[in-house]
Amino acid sequence: MKVHNVEMIMSAVKPEQYPTEGYPEFALAGRSNVGKSSFINKMIGRKSLARTSSKPGKTQTLNFYKIEEQLFFVDVPGYGYAKVSKTEREAWGKMIERYITAREELRAVLLIVDLRHPPTEDDCMMYDFLAHYNVPTIVVATKADKIPKGKWEKHKKVVRTTLNMEKHHPLLLFSSEKGMGIEEAWREIESRM
Ligand code: GDP
Repeated sequence: MKVHNVEMIMSAVKPEQYPTEGYPEFALAGRSNVGKSSFINKMIGRKSLARTSSKPGKTQTLNFYKIEEQLFFVDVPGYGYAKVSKTEREAWGKMIERYITAREELRAVLLIVDLRHPPTEDDCMMYDFLAHYNVPTIVVATKADKIPKGKWEKHKKVVRTTLNMEKHHPLLLFSSEKGMGIEEAWREIESRM
């Protein structure tokens, strides 16, 4: 998809605050600093529309980006910050669970992981959580530019086995740095709209 028009339409915590257009939604999840904002910006062809919304102490909200009057990207605050309090962590969990379990417009979650390293315990928990609720999941392994091409397959295999991925869930390589994987990611999204 060639993206011309993006609006950051709203931040929501509760279902009453979700948008009402009824467009298909694609949520983006990943641990803090994994490269999620860079992924979003690259996908929508913007330099810095998506900000890192995961800094501790910041309000944790779902951020809805309306794209081409056709779909929404839903930016989920990053997980895995060691310094987040138990109360904040629980509020985060509740917000995600409410969205994931009840949102009819949700077509898939794109789970962003780092191709360089095996997925973390938090990544595995997130994947299991999505699998538990039968949410279609697309795993995006980013920062591929940091790994030589000859090792991509090996690293992909580590991601698949560590997450214990279901066979039908796609695993895509991506690099925000090189602008690699954009078309494949859009193809996966558009095939689910
Ligand atoms: P977020 O916290 O998940 O939103 O992560 P950011 O998108 O802010 O990225 C975290 C850091 O990783 C930043 O310094 C980015 O420049 C860097 N980064 C993100 N994506 C890539 C990538 O594909 N390749 C490389 N080399 N660096 C990346």
